[in-house]
Amino acid sequence: MSKYWSPAISQLTPYVPGEQPKVDNLIKLNTNENPYPPSPRAEEAINNYPKERLRLYCDPDATLLKQALADHFQLQYDNIFVGNGSDEVLALAFMAFFRQDQPLLLPETTYSFYDVYCKLYDIEYRQIPLTNAFEIDLEQYNQANGGIIFANPNAPTGRLLELGKIERLLQNNTESLVIVDEAYIDFGGASAVELTRQYDNVLVIQTFSKSRSLAGLRIGYALGHKNLIEGLERVKNSFNSYPLDSLAIAGAVAALEDDEYFRETTGKIIDCREWTTNQLEALGFDVVPSATNFVFTCHRSLSGAELMSYLRSNNLLVRHFGKPGIENFLRITIGTYDEMQELINTLKQHPDISS
Ligand SMILES: *Cc1c(COP(=O)(O)O)cnc(C)c1O
Repeated sequence: MSKYWSPAISQLTPYVPGEQPKVDNLIKLNTNENPYPPSPRAEEAINNYPKERLRLYCDPDATLLKQALADHFQLQYDNIFVGNGSDEVLALAFMAFFRQDQPLLLPETTYSFYDVYCKLYDIEYRQIPLTNAFEIDLEQYNQANGGIIFANPNAPTGRLLELGKIERLLQNNTESLVIVDEAYIDFGGASAVELTRQYDNVLVIQTFSKSRSLAGLRIGYALGHKNLIEGLERVKNSFNSYPLDSLAIAGAVAALEDDEYFRETTGKIIDCREWTTNQLEALGFDVVPSATNFVFTCHRSLSGAELMSYLRSNNLLVRHFGKPGIENFLRITIGTYDEMQELINTLKQHPDISS
């Protein structure tokens, strides 16, 4: 607290990211990072970038990256917006689209940055409960609103919505924008990018942080109708003209070109997710069906807090949200097979878990 703060600052509840431990003997399954390194092509592109050019400002439009994304998704250049991680893209989108007279609708259990942005921008919002099976029920979103946002697949639950349901929402909800946060779509879901060709009331946001193993390089993007992109550009250029640095642009373009590596690594994670799910179920866990690189799971007799600290004392870091309704659940990132084998072995050694 300081008397020099702007008045609203003391009312904020900032997002708390998952721990980045300073020691490296931990198996880190708490922030949905990819266990595989980035594409060797991305590394090479960053190494080969002429460092002397860092003297200059980077391209404020990240032209090479936008063009690469346009080609990749078969969209036009003016359908693409890029930012410093999808968190920044989301922040700019809340500013650009959701400061309306009607409340923003969002799931009650979802990415916890959304309500942080609402408070930052003073956006009124209404949280819609998930079904008992942790699904987003889009039927409940047919009510007056100033915008709708959800993650698909949702986080931290991992459940995927079918595209048909999203399309029906877009047809029924023509007076406000729907944002679909697809941070995890590459782990088995069908992207709403297809719908952006036909509907001007949907914006799709994706990231290089999860499926492209580049969380530390900070690259996110939005795909949608050119008028939506123009709105985002207006806000971005009123805030920071250079959100993506030269190395990030070079690395991202190269990563996007390496489709083979992308398919290999995401494929391994999907296979390992299925293996992990079966193993956990055999140990008395309920596992929510996941289309992501994590599983959301609870044990039939042990509490979430107890399990998290047991794993922590065995050098395994997982995420536990102490929130009512999900307090017994853990969100466990899918790592390599060796890491998941270690998780399962450790759980088997717990005195109250029988295999
Ligand atoms: C990880 C994540 C993000 C943020 O990703 P960055 O691109 O690293 O900022 C956004 N939305 C959801 C649902 C996420 O899980």
